[in-house]
Amino acid sequence: MKAKAGLNREILATGWGTLRRMLEYKALRVIAVDPRHTSQTCAACGHVDARSRRARAFECVACGHADHADLNAARNIRRRGLALLHGEERSVLPTPVTRETDRRLAA
Ligand SMILES: [Zn+2]
Repeated sequence: MKAKAGLNREILATGWGTLRRMLEYKALRVIAVDPRHTSQTCAACGHVDARSRRARAFECVACGHADHADLNAARNIRRRGLALLHGEERSVLPTPVTRETDRRLAA
């Protein structure tokens, strides 16, 4: 069982490494952000609380903001990426996103 857990960990680590290499090859630029608490942070008010996350739904216990949990987390990740990008270089365009992604994240 322990060996299987180690194997699963190795597969996961390799998978993410491969995905990152593919992204870096294809994308104009890849910005890695700290993912901690992105699923527990309210994209509307910034409040961090594990109780706001309920399965696929997010409802902020501080301000009542409600959204799909994945979209709420995506907005937080996008904000962190843009903050890193703008903090480092204002002249570089962000990695392109599809119109659908951009429309949903801008909402
Ligand atoms: Zn909130």
